[in-house]
Amino acid sequence: MMQDKNTKYVVGSLKKFDNVTQKFYQLSSGYLQGSPPSLDQGNNLFTPMLPLAHPIHRQTYSQWKYSMFVNTLFRRKRGRNLYLLPIGPFPADITETEVAGLRLWDFLKGFAAAFFYGLDVHVLPEISLENIDCTKRVHKNTNQKQVLVGDLFPYLQKMCPPDGYSVVGISWTDLYPSEELNFVLGEASFVQHSAVISFGQFEPKLYKDGLRVRECGSEGEDERAIMLLKLTKSLCHESCHLMGLSHCVFFQCLMNESSSMEQAFKQPLFLCPVCLRKLQKMCKFDIRERYHMLREMLIKCCQAVESQYFADSAEWLDRCLSFLD
Ligand SMILES: [Zn+2]
Ligand SMILES: [Zn+2]
Repeated sequence: MMQDKNTKYVVGSLKKFDNVTQKFYQLSSGYLQGSPPSLDQGNNLFTPMLPLAHPIHRQTYSQWKYSMFVNTLFRRKRGRNLYLLPIGPFPADITETEVAGLRLWDFLKGFAAAFFYGLDVHVLPEISLENIDCTKRVHKNTNQKQVLVGDLFPYLQKMCPPDGYSVVGISWTDLYPSEELNFVLGEASFVQHSAVISFGQFEPKLYKDGLRVRECGSEGEDERAIMLLKLTKSLCHESCHLMGLSHCVFFQCLMNESSSMEQAFKQPLFLCPVCLRKLQKMCKFDIRERYHMLREMLIKCCQAVESQYFADSAEWLDRCLSFLD
């Protein structure tokens, strides 16, 4: 199959892949053409971000590969294990909560193992925030405690077992990125090999004078669905940052930047072809096998909670799989 210039620019050479995989990655050519491929070509699986971003904001596959190469030179931890570290204390109804018959942490582990198919994912024993030396504040809109997220990275880096690639903390307490900013659902440090996500219970935008005035998420999603959505989405997004992926400006994609939870909920749970190519190089999966694994996890989500978002995501995976058949 002949590869056009556009796809070579964003996803690199596809020579070593089978025809169907090549065809799938070729869908990335819709980006520079500024229009989605016609229906029969790609079933509109990916929507380009328009107008086109300045090239300086783009991280193409070859740029990603170069930054990974440099990072590897300085990296001591080179294992293929991704560790999740619950940072409590948590209320009992959270630690005892079950999703599809699994403890919440085990469910998240399963989800990450499907998303990063090829890496091993483990859950470390829960620790308490009180044992970590970090800056805290009480946000004036919500009257709730927040933790300065960057303060957690050195601690997490130390907690990463020798066979680990990275650690992702899962914090019960909300996070903030810097003094002037309100809130962040999660953040990652590629250099410190660690990330933190939170349950994001108290986004200040949803509050006024200490009272919740708006709900987050789209209509019809119940609280449990919103919790799962926040956790799965931020876990996968931040972990991708740990694997060197920058924010995506090519397509609507899990790696798009978002400035609020509302915006995050509008973005897909999945990667565009450009970001997928990077993750595939990192995890070394077959894209079909990975989609099958993810589909299984999404079906579990749909059985556990009522959520249009998860249902739409499962339907999108079905369309991808039929394209790849
Ligand atoms: Zn991000
Ligand atoms: Zn992307």
